[in-house]
Amino acid sequence: MAIRNIREIGDAVLNKKCKEVKEITPRVKELIEDMLETMYEACGVGLAAPQVGILKRIVVIDVTGEDPYVMINPRILEMSGEQTGHEGCLSVPGKSGIVTRPNYVKAVAYNENMELYEIEGTELLARAICHELDHLEGNLYVDKVEGPLMNLEDLEDDDEMES
Ligand SMILES: [Zn+2]
Repeated sequence: MAIRNIREIGDAVLNKKCKEVKEITPRVKELIEDMLETMYEACGVGLAAPQVGILKRIVVIDVTGEDPYVMINPRILEMSGEQTGHEGCLSVPGKSGIVTRPNYVKAVAYNENMELYEIEGTELLARAICHELDHLEGNLYVDKVEGPLMNLEDLEDDDEMES
């Protein structure tokens, strides 16, 4: 496993649409392991493949630090409600902004063994799923921010969520 370099806003790879994963090759397996390691090392709650420069539909999410989800070719099935709160992104270091997201999300994805599973989340998990899936479309949260993009250092620690 290896820590990969996280691409930052302004890098064209972050604005491209990602391609479906057809099969789990050793390279894809290694990518997933590296994404998890890179996410944990950066203290993020999620990471999408384009953030490490790979245009594949793969995201990893872990909002508790001990419950990682690998989502390959994910699709949102249902969403409802609304939550408005701070959001950040490992590709937009040092910044945070207010974004409104659904408060409940149900999605379907393949895991690292290409087994289909459903995932349901509320609050932070729902936010993280939406944020990461946006990355696969080439979208960054900064385009959804309500009001100014703020500096993280001006905020309390517990306000932040980076993915
Ligand atoms: Zn992000």
